[in-house]
Amino acid sequence: MSARERTYLGVPVKKPRAAFFEFTSCEGCQLQLLNNEATLLDFLSLLTIVNFREAMTESSDDYDIAFVEGSISRDDEAEQLRVIRSRAKTLVAVGSCACFGGVNQLKNRFNDLAWVKEQVYGSHAIDTREAVPLSAIVPVDLSIYGCPIKKEEVEKVVTNLVLGKSIDYPRYPVCMECKDNHNVCLFNLGQPCLGPVTRAGCDAWCPSNRLGCWGCRGPAEAANVRQLRQIMHEHGFSDEQLLDRLECFGGFADYVTELKKAAKE
Ligand code: SF4
Ligand code: SF4
Ligand code: SF4
Repeated sequence: MSARERTYLGVPVKKPRAAFFEFTSCEGCQLQLLNNEATLLDFLSLLTIVNFREAMTESSDDYDIAFVEGSISRDDEAEQLRVIRSRAKTLVAVGSCACFGGVNQLKNRFNDLAWVKEQVYGSHAIDTREAVPLSAIVPVDLSIYGCPIKKEEVEKVVTNLVLGKSIDYPRYPVCMECKDNHNVCLFNLGQPCLGPVTRAGCDAWCPSNRLGCWGCRGPAEAANVRQLRQIMHEHGFSDEQLLDRLECFGGFADYVTELKKAAKE
């Protein structure tokens, strides 16, 4: 048996060659993986890592899986992403920036990128364009949600990927996990929360720490944003407050247009 082979229930399992890349991002998702000291070695033993700038100096263009963090906000990033896509058998979008545009796409709200650029960079010559998710440039095979990602979820996804098992995400909203944690609902404490419409999987990270959800994991299946709007109104929150949250990470883009229209009526 070669050094690259492992076994699962006695059956040889090939260790895929994996590469990590980042585009417009804070690199916090990659840091989450490296911070996972308790299980990091087990996790790394599933893969042959050939490229991970935050963790190693060696690099190779020969890989099976590309884990890509960050949104695309420059033309050269789009070009690099196309090259990565052409080399990888599987491309995984890692984190809200890669999946939805993330906090970077907030600049798209202003509809005047020249003005945004000037406000942020002054007269410096900076190449920047509308921030978009990876899927706007290349096909994406898998998404790992969150800002930042939950390392436990990444480990589960990677283990299933390596073993050829199916990968399922929760379809229910964050509220289910929040209730499971016996939290007092933040609406009852005077805070807004997107938990009723946001995809679970973070174990209600924010509400369990007395912070309302901002929707970083995108919409749950059959998310009822209209109903959430009513709940927000009943608790004295405005459409602007709801929109601020829904637009924060880009995952609710499909719902925002409808809501803006309804807010004008
Ligand atoms: S998703 Fe959040 S933590 Fe991850 S790179 Fe983007 S901003 Fe950073
Ligand atoms: S705090 Fe948020 S996630 Fe928790 S039950 Fe209330 S609305 Fe749902
Ligand atoms: S509670 Fe909401 S904002 Fe917080 S990590 Fe979970 S999905 Fe993201």
